[in-house]
Amino acid sequence: KKEVAAEKITMKVYDMATVSAAGLDEALKRPSQKSSDAILKIVTPIIDDVRKNGDKAVLAYTHKFEKATSLTSPVLKAPFPESLMRLPPETVKAIDVSFENIRKFHAAQKEEKPLKVETMPGVVCSRFSRPIEAVGLYVPGGTAVLPSTALMLGVPAMVAGCKKIVLASPPRADGTITPEIVYVAHKIGAESIVLAGGAQAVAAMAYGTESVSKVDKILGPGNQFVTAAKMYVSNDTNAGVSIDMPAGPSEVLVIADKDANPAFVASDLLSQAEHGVDSQVVLIAVDLSDAQLAAIEDEVHKQAMALPRVDIVRGSIAHSLTVRVRTVDEAMEISNKYAPEHLILQLKDAEAAVDKVLNAGSVFIGEWTPESVGDYSAGVNHSLPTYGYAKQYSGVNLASFVKHITSSNLTAEGLRNVGEAVMQLAKVEELEAHRRAVSIRLAHMQR
Ligand code: NAD
Repeated sequence: KKEVAAEKITMKVYDMATVSAAGLDEALKRPSQKSSDAILKIVTPIIDDVRKNGDKAVLAYTHKFEKATSLTSPVLKAPFPESLMRLPPETVKAIDVSFENIRKFHAAQKEEKPLKVETMPGVVCSRFSRPIEAVGLYVPGGTAVLPSTALMLGVPAMVAGCKKIVLASPPRADGTITPEIVYVAHKIGAESIVLAGGAQAVAAMAYGTESVSKVDKILGPGNQFVTAAKMYVSNDTNAGVSIDMPAGPSEVLVIADKDANPAFVASDLLSQAEHGVDSQVVLIAVDLSDAQLAAIEDEVHKQAMALPRVDIVRGSIAHSLTVRVRTVDEAMEISNKYAPEHLILQLKDAEAAVDKVLNAGSVFIGEWTPESVGDYSAGVNHSLPTYGYAKQYSGVNLASFVKHITSSNLTAEGLRNVGEAVMQLAKVEELEAHRRAVSIRLAHMQR
């Protein structure tokens, strides 16, 4: 044990000048995830049970997994009693400041007025948005306290105008929810808190039970059981529920040049490495000398040893890496291919590099922008695509809580203008009723 503790906490180093393309791809692979089939075999019976037996089943799983055997109802309805959200004033202030910044940034994402385009004279196409009526927000962790996750999901839902916001979180063994989460639930106007975790919480919100409201969309991170359950219910047409995105372990990619402060770079790498042993952190060192790289490595070790979660850091650093490159362009090429959840630019001209970002969940620009500000309080959302999904998914934002509806509105002149094209395509597709819906009107105009 002592020998392990003495071992230097350091990331493997690759040099773009010498590593093969295939070698680099292999090194940048995320740690593999457990087989989803095995997990699905565990969660499917739980989901079926909740569907059939409702509250009784949800409670039984909470008694089993959370050991909250005193709990007699799986739901806490609003208004939540003051006594359940008593907090030190400094925590209230921190939540209030973060709430306000997240609210401001997401409120600015509102579309002021519907989009309206006249595609041809008399043919007007519009697009407008409406909130998703009922959303279920999963806040993970029986032991961890995660008010930030409740804020990142709850504030945009509130800003979007979702009528019913249901929060779900596994309770503590005494059957209560951490007061930070109850306080956030109160601030966002949640209808209720489902006192359950895992597949049972997801199933309860997807299908509804006697006391849990059925929702239209489920969002939020969680362990592999939560993720598998979300995937399952979103594929079940009986549930009629959608989900946000596939969630995986947190990750960061830091691009640093000679101007970067080694202590800052190390602190950013470690703030992701402490998330979990399956997290991955990547440093792209742009034209650094051996001494400059060594300074960062020394800082990583020194700072890691001082962390309470040093054992988790050891696990994640073991599959993390440094890549040495010569230019910012080379660095950006690697980053865009990796598509990190978080991208930190510690470069002399960090802002100029933003133009070159093609794939990333959220970008942190310059030496005064640690990623933690985005995790909590700056205003940007921290529910972001991981595992390379930043190539095709956006992080949670206001649009995650709305639907876009389109409309068309034609005048007689409009139908005369576009009618020929419609009738010809209907003819090609041999859909005669489609063609006639136009021709009957055009004939009517002739009368
Ligand atoms: P969780 O709330 O995700 O899961 C708890 C539930 O897991 C339990 O209620 C139980 O239903 C289920 N479960 C546990 N063991 C089971 C078993 N053997 N069979 C069936 N179900 C079982 O809490 P967690 O486990 O602490 O995981 C938290 C997850 O959230 C981690 O994966 C972490 O990476 C992630 N996380 C994400 C963020 C974020 O992005 N905001 C923040 C913190 C944590």
